[in-house]
Amino acid sequence: MGSLILAKEEIMSPKAKIDTAIMMNVLKISEEHRKYEEQSVHDAPIVSSYNDKIRPLLDTVDKLRHLKIMQEGIQLPTIVVVGDQSSGKSSVLESLAGISLPRGQGICTRVPLIMRLQNNPNPDPELFLEFNEKIVATDEDKIADDISVATEEIAGKGKGISGNPLTLIVKKKGVPDLTMVDLPGITRVPVRGQPEDIYEQISKIIMEFITPEESIILNVLSANVDFSTCESIRMSQRVDKTGQRTLAVVTKADKSPEGLLEKVTADDVNIGLGYVCVRNRIGDESYEEARAEEANLFDNHPLLSKINKSMVGIPVLAEKLVKIQATIIRRCLPEIVRKINDKLSVNVQELNKLPKHLNSLAEAMTTFLQILGSAKESLRKILVQGEFDEYPDAEDMHCTARLRVNFDKYSDELHSDNVVDDDSNRNFLLDEIKVLEETKSIGLPNFLPKAVFLTLLQRKVKGISAIPLDFVEKTWNYMEDVLVSVLLRHCENYPQLISSTRRAAKNLIAKKKQQSINWVNDVVEMENLTDYTCHPEYSTTWNKLMAYQATLMDRINDPYLSNVVCIERFGDINIAHLRGFKGLVKEAYDVKMRITAYWDIVLRRMVDNMALHLLFSIKNLVNKQMEREIIEELVGPQGTGLERMLEESPSFAEKRNKLKKSIKLLKESKDVVANIMDISFEDY
Ligand code: GDP
Ligand code: MG
Repeated sequence: MGSLILAKEEIMSPKAKIDTAIMMNVLKISEEHRKYEEQSVHDAPIVSSYNDKIRPLLDTVDKLRHLKIMQEGIQLPTIVVVGDQSSGKSSVLESLAGISLPRGQGICTRVPLIMRLQNNPNPDPELFLEFNEKIVATDEDKIADDISVATEEIAGKGKGISGNPLTLIVKKKGVPDLTMVDLPGITRVPVRGQPEDIYEQISKIIMEFITPEESIILNVLSANVDFSTCESIRMSQRVDKTGQRTLAVVTKADKSPEGLLEKVTADDVNIGLGYVCVRNRIGDESYEEARAEEANLFDNHPLLSKINKSMVGIPVLAEKLVKIQATIIRRCLPEIVRKINDKLSVNVQELNKLPKHLNSLAEAMTTFLQILGSAKESLRKILVQGEFDEYPDAEDMHCTARLRVNFDKYSDELHSDNVVDDDSNRNFLLDEIKVLEETKSIGLPNFLPKAVFLTLLQRKVKGISAIPLDFVEKTWNYMEDVLVSVLLRHCENYPQLISSTRRAAKNLIAKKKQQSINWVNDVVEMENLTDYTCHPEYSTTWNKLMAYQATLMDRINDPYLSNVVCIERFGDINIAHLRGFKGLVKEAYDVKMRITAYWDIVLRRMVDNMALHLLFSIKNLVNKQMEREIIEELVGPQGTGLERMLEESPSFAEKRNKLKKSIKLLKESKDVVANIMDISFEDY
């Protein structure tokens, strides 16, 4: 940015600045000014041959602007003209271009006017207006009217404003090669017919243009106002605090010459790129007359002639602008080229990522089968193989681990019934004795009726029967979440598939859940009705436990022995309460130990079988049923059909069109810049 500060005065006190400035003016007449003086104002170009070098670069920028590359968020180096209403913006542009723009009371510039000035060898000026995708040829006599007509076409009749620009191309002999944007002037108070929020509307447009770092702010100030009170100064200071990209043009020097020198030398408002004082065309003056009057004014006016010649006159302004423009273009273009390339490749990538547009049922079928295949693979990874590369951070989708955690909980819950506590010890054998009493019959002693065992077993089975049911219910609910989430992820490019796929998944899970519930019910029923195991552990455990029977009976039969017996698995047991049931205790102990030994087997069966059942069900689901169910849902006799896959979802269609448009624009832009990339920027 530093290189842009072309005319920033040294830092010194305002008084010293003024003194120095005056002294310099007396002593020195700048080279530039002498050159302008020597030339005949009438036919000399106002800017030197510098033009020819920068021209191709400026043309490139203008072409990019014409392509509307700004829509892609790529900012172009732009000289933006801002100023309060009637500060003389249009007049300054007019002076630079040597033409007449609409002028008048109230708001005249109602849309951004991009003005492209191009030096042209042809002595007859050529003027064109470009707006709403059309080009209209015009001429110096008609230009004011044509701009009004175009403005009405863009912003409507009346006094409303619009952010859509109008481009004015002026090809004329001697004009500087410059592109500038004239913006509507800032008004605080709406005039009749203007919308209430005119200030907000205008500030929004102005801020849009001056905020980018690539913009140079040409702040037009009227000599007769206090600069620090200007809205345009406040705005430019908001986006360019140090003023390093702000240049001030002071108009109406003729009207308020008093104190102007002091004002521009004091620089109270931080104008980094310096001031140029001008006098524009007044009334019906011709352009040439106006320039002559201006030169005369700054040469001969007692006050104005004291201002340094490098700070006065339209030719100086033109020269400065051309230099500044060259500097920013040179600085910005490489970055613009880079941005175009970056955006282009990002957009191309994004377009490629968009789902293919399907044109035939066969294509739809292929895509559908691919989706199914990849969904199946994902499910196999997370549900069967325990590979989580597709979901590194989603713990919910680390299914084998989650299933394992839940399964361990299930097993713990089943076994929690086995824990012996004080309470169960206080009632040791009482349940068994009660059942024995109820199943008494006329029969041989020491003959344990089967009914006793079954009754006690059934009680225990009933006690835990809710646990496996609850577990399968929870497990399939979890499986539903996983299945739906995986399937939807694979369908995300074809929203048409989502509802049927989700339906198929839900139906399938409902079926699987029901199967598991039926299975659990069968298992519980089997345990209820029969008692069998071939496992040797049953006898081992029973024998081990029976070893304590003799001790127990001794204690019960001998009132002088201790009331406490220690029995494996049950700990210390106070047997006082059993002394009254002497006759039944032996049998009761026997049956309790049988149940205890057998219950170990039952629980193990419940856990093992559940594991096998679940793994089997899940594998079946992944390997066969999921696919079948979804195919049935979509292409079966009652299926909703694959035809819908052929209609592209509106959101994708829109995205695709937007990307295509943007890619086209960026490609064109790339072609535009390709032409100048051969030229080394260092040449300028
Ligand atoms: P804009 O609203 O900022 O575009 O201002 P205009 O260019 O329309 O100018 C507003 C008024 O100020 C017009 O009547 C111009 O003729 C007048 N004006 C602009 N510049 C000068 C100047 O340097 N000297 C004098 N005397 N009048 C000027
Ligand atoms: Mg104007």
